[in-house]
Amino acid sequence: MSTLRLILADQLSHDLASLKDCELDNDWLLMVEVREEANYVKHHKKKIAFLFSAMRHFANELTGKGHQLVYTKYDGKDNKGSLFGEVKRLCEQKNIDKIILTHPGEYRVLVEMQSWQEKLNIAVEIRQDDRFLASLEEFASWAQGRKQLRMEFFYREMRKAWHFLMDGDKPVGDKWNFDSANRKALPKEMSPPQPTKFETDAITQEVLELVAKEFDDHFGQLENFHFAVTREQALVVLDEFISQRLVNFGDYQDAMVQGQPWMYHSHISFYLNCGLLTPKEVIEQAENAYRNGDAPLNAVEGFIRQVLGWREYVRGLYWLKMPDYKNENFLEATRSLPKFFWDANTKMNCLHQCIKETSENAYAHHIQRLMILGNFALLAGLHPDEVNEWYLIVYADAYEWVEMPNVTGMILFADGGLLASKPYAASGSYINKMSNYCKSCHYKVKDKNGSQACPFNYLYWDFLDRNKEKLGNNPRLGMPYRTLNKMTDEKRQIIQRDSQIFLQTLDTYEKV
Ligand SMILES: Cc1cc2nc3c(=O)[nH]c(=O)nc-3n(C[C@H](O)[C@H](O)[C@H](O)COP(=O)(O)OP(=O)(O)OC[C@H]3O[C@@H](n4cnc5c(N)ncnc54)[C@H](O)[C@@H]3O)c2cc1C
Ligand code: SF4
Repeated sequence: MSTLRLILADQLSHDLASLKDCELDNDWLLMVEVREEANYVKHHKKKIAFLFSAMRHFANELTGKGHQLVYTKYDGKDNKGSLFGEVKRLCEQKNIDKIILTHPGEYRVLVEMQSWQEKLNIAVEIRQDDRFLASLEEFASWAQGRKQLRMEFFYREMRKAWHFLMDGDKPVGDKWNFDSANRKALPKEMSPPQPTKFETDAITQEVLELVAKEFDDHFGQLENFHFAVTREQALVVLDEFISQRLVNFGDYQDAMVQGQPWMYHSHISFYLNCGLLTPKEVIEQAENAYRNGDAPLNAVEGFIRQVLGWREYVRGLYWLKMPDYKNENFLEATRSLPKFFWDANTKMNCLHQCIKETSENAYAHHIQRLMILGNFALLAGLHPDEVNEWYLIVYADAYEWVEMPNVTGMILFADGGLLASKPYAASGSYINKMSNYCKSCHYKVKDKNGSQACPFNYLYWDFLDRNKEKLGNNPRLGMPYRTLNKMTDEKRQIIQRDSQIFLQTLDTYEKV
């Protein structure tokens, strides 16, 4: 009799909970390139190539350490197509009497796993995923009894609990948050370093050929694949971030520049989310850089807040609120996703650039996802289901636990303010301040109305007007609503007219 330990595509960590206490001679490890998972939404080609290659490298490392491992390739002739099918097959072949799993990243998969014990009549143990710094129980107990679940307060508790960036019981620098220093536009003379790139080895080459053949109809470009696919390579990405980009991470965290998709960001979400890096080690390295005088506090605190705060917080929120969270639509948004989200064919330069880069790289940095793509989805009233699916498809770091709270809560305000205290809505002047996109746009950012005006300008006011009943009493929207209320009827009618023309054009799939 032996134990089966299943390792999912986002569980590529040698100290994974379900690998602890593994008996080399007796236990069987299973890794599967599952057809069902690769196809249930049409993931970006680079995302599939990245995960398959990282899985195959990880499997080789495990067998190198002496583990007995069965690896089912996507095009393997016996591949049953589903996780359950593959688990069942191995249970029958290897005389398995126990299955050990690590908690998955998606509610749907957890529900599926919870049914296996009964279906297979074999004991199933699902272990907590201790790569995260807050357990689901700890998050739930922090959330209990609170009316608002503000990330900032959770983050402070996490700083104290883990003693990251603390001097005794006080935050380093006597402040928890240095965000106000992190909103600079990039000066013209500055040029961010290129991202770390890796050569394609034989394993990656085989995967790239597979993806080109099997996933031809999926979104995105496969060319110029350069991601890290092993822990060793992911550590190089982290090292280069700490030594080359962290110093400017804070200052230019919100900046956007045409032709610079990577900026001073870390590009580690791919590796954190699939397990090649751990949040603890990246936070420790960032803190060391500050303590050694290699990076300023606003950069290091800003970075640690993303990883220790936002990342842990959205995971906690997802598991606390699922499955209902999937159906949230507070603003009752109904519009279909415009076609240009797939082909970047729009005259709005900011959207064109961000979608083009997303297609090329399976990556866009946070402020592009939030203030360009997300802002448009919010102002145009796109349906949360369609927006969620798009974000899950197009980014190589996307898994439902992290994508959904960012989309449903952060950009669409579809949870009615559980995550965000106000919608992240902005007009063209914000985009013009933080980027150089407007300089080469068909539309004029200074124009407020008319066919040449930047659509973000009138859509912003139209959004507030349309949702007045639901948002009018939000204390953080007092100022814009006061401005809206002071507008003449004529001005409001012009805003409505321009918005209607624009949105109707959008609905007919004509180019906007
Ligand atoms: C609409 C929308 C959808 C998003 N979808 C995803 C997603 O599917 N997967 C994903 O990992 N991130 C997602 N994010 C968060 C963030 O945009 C990405 O983590 C970040 O852009 C990844 O690039 P980076 O590694 O260079 O990050 P950096 O800017 O260098 O930040 C460092 C790390 O902090 C973490 N982080 C930062 N912001 C967030 C956040 N809001 N939520 C969770 N973690 C965060 C990430 O692990 C990231 O690697 C989304 C944000 C928005 C607004
Ligand atoms: S003018 Fe408006 S649509 Fe064009 S790039 Fe600027 S913000 Fe985007």
